[in-house]
Amino acid sequence: LSKVLAVVVVSGGTGGGLLAYSDSKSYNVEQAVSSPNAENKKKKLVVLGTGWAGTSFLKNLKNPSYEVHVISPRNYFAFTPLLPSVTVGTVEPRSICEPIRKMVKKKDVDISFWEAECLSIDPVTKKVKCRSTQDADSKEKAEFAVDYDYLVIAMGARSNTFNTPGVEEHAHFLKEVEDAQKIRQSIIDCFEKAALPTLSEEERKRILHFVVVGGGPTGVEFAAELHDFVNDDLVRLYPKVKELVKITLLEATDHILNMFDKRITDFAEEKFHRDGINLQTGSMVVKVTDKEISTKALKNGGQISSMPYGMLVWSTGIGARPVIMDFMKQINQGKRRALGTDEWLRVEGTGEIYALGDCATIVQRKVMEDIGEIFKKADKDNSGTLTVKEMQELVDDVLERYPQIELYLKSRKLKSIVDLMKDAKGDASKESVELNIEEFKSALSEVDTQMKNLPATAQVAAQQGTYLADCFNRMEECEKNPQGPIRIRGEGRHRFKPFRYRHFGQFAPLGGEQAAAQLPGDWVSIGHSTQWLWYSVYASKQVSWRTRALVVGDWTRRFMFGRDSSRI
Ligand code: FAD
Repeated sequence: LSKVLAVVVVSGGTGGGLLAYSDSKSYNVEQAVSSPNAENKKKKLVVLGTGWAGTSFLKNLKNPSYEVHVISPRNYFAFTPLLPSVTVGTVEPRSICEPIRKMVKKKDVDISFWEAECLSIDPVTKKVKCRSTQDADSKEKAEFAVDYDYLVIAMGARSNTFNTPGVEEHAHFLKEVEDAQKIRQSIIDCFEKAALPTLSEEERKRILHFVVVGGGPTGVEFAAELHDFVNDDLVRLYPKVKELVKITLLEATDHILNMFDKRITDFAEEKFHRDGINLQTGSMVVKVTDKEISTKALKNGGQISSMPYGMLVWSTGIGARPVIMDFMKQINQGKRRALGTDEWLRVEGTGEIYALGDCATIVQRKVMEDIGEIFKKADKDNSGTLTVKEMQELVDDVLERYPQIELYLKSRKLKSIVDLMKDAKGDASKESVELNIEEFKSALSEVDTQMKNLPATAQVAAQQGTYLADCFNRMEECEKNPQGPIRIRGEGRHRFKPFRYRHFGQFAPLGGEQAAAQLPGDWVSIGHSTQWLWYSVYASKQVSWRTRALVVGDWTRRFMFGRDSSRI
């Protein structure tokens, strides 16, 4: 009993199943009393996170047969693509945030929101343990547990430091609105400090050395925004120190913006050279102290060198949050970098738990095995031969299940999957094709090994949210009439079509009112006109008319009066 402790039902009527624990150390979900929700006909759907994936799911959920509880430590949605603009005051923080209660308010669907963070997930008893951000100083009051019938995990990810010593303590990250606000203050701090009469020239130089680690879209955009802020606004206000400012961008691989077309990478690198941004590729950070960064050259014998710095922004990718890592260990996914799901976004090794957005990855590991199974089923009479028509049907099934194969083939301008199959037999003109799974697998092996996971972007997260909401909207209907591919339905698993990602292209703002865009069909656009396309797309993508008006207002203010450099 001392372990179980008093479990107090603090929510009755609508909620039910919200349990408060008087001692978090002795928390034992297995022994928690069952929730009064058993009486309630509505199934309990708990959503963790209010980022791109979570809000897209909630906005599209229309089925009134769920009682929905949303849990997130922040009560707003943040439009992350504009975070780099917030770091220098091009856009104000409130302009990119929308209150979550306003976004998910619906007439028909019963949705409640709790501002709390999830501490752990127990898939056996179907409960999540949470801590309110309101009573953070009183553990007793702050902790509670919620039970669920369905759980949607959309908790995003954290910045990855790759355990590089000193990064956690000394670097800024750019993940949340608070991070962007801290960076903005820190930039002004550096300029104010450097302008003081008490410092040596060397110390001034150090303080005004801004280092960005990571040449991906976020690092590049931040470096470009910082360069514009310094050159458009700060040099006029701090004329005595303007010669001392230096911006360095460190990237471990040979090029920045690796995921973009080579034309974009080349243009960005040339532009940065012209702008005087010190671009150091092939350079990996190995240690950070409060005043110095040590780097290792990945070529030339791995030479270690160090550079003094004033401010460091770390943007080298993402990793799993601790709560997700603990959960992955519980369900034997401990070796993964993100929660593995199937193509229906269901977490592998669990019952009714779904994961989407940056915290999840659709597992590719079984592609080849599954394709083998599909082939065996297609060859009903075991003749080892398929007609071309049968083969085409089979390919449709494979592609329906693994749309990333097609995406990969298209992006690399490789042969179609049918051609690959014909090649496997060496004769493309045959009416029927002898089935040889092993040969076909080897023809596809390049695709399998090189096929990448979906990128961790807002585009993927939002599409997954919409997809999953649609599944929940039609849950009952599809129970009766499954719409998953016929050959791979089996055991009621595939009521829905699998998730299919549609890529709409990607932008990279490069500063100086120039941007690059890589759109579907390998269409590349670079320059001033692309920046205007960027403005239009990002204005249209705002989640409400309020934020749209605020963001466009901020851009106009910046054009007319420049950015504000007050240290507030
Ligand atoms: P998030 O949007 O990060 O949301 C996670 C949610 O989970 C948040 O509400 C958070 O508060 C909540 N949460 C965290 N911990 C807990 C917990 N313990 N319990 C409960 N809730 C929790 N993508 C693009 O497509 N285009 C871009 O231009 C672009 N630019 C970007 C610029 C920056 C600076 C950054 C950081 C990212 C950018 N991205 C962009 C990537 C994009 O933001 C992410 O891929 C997207 O946010 C992922 O959505 P998500 O819902 O998985 O996670």
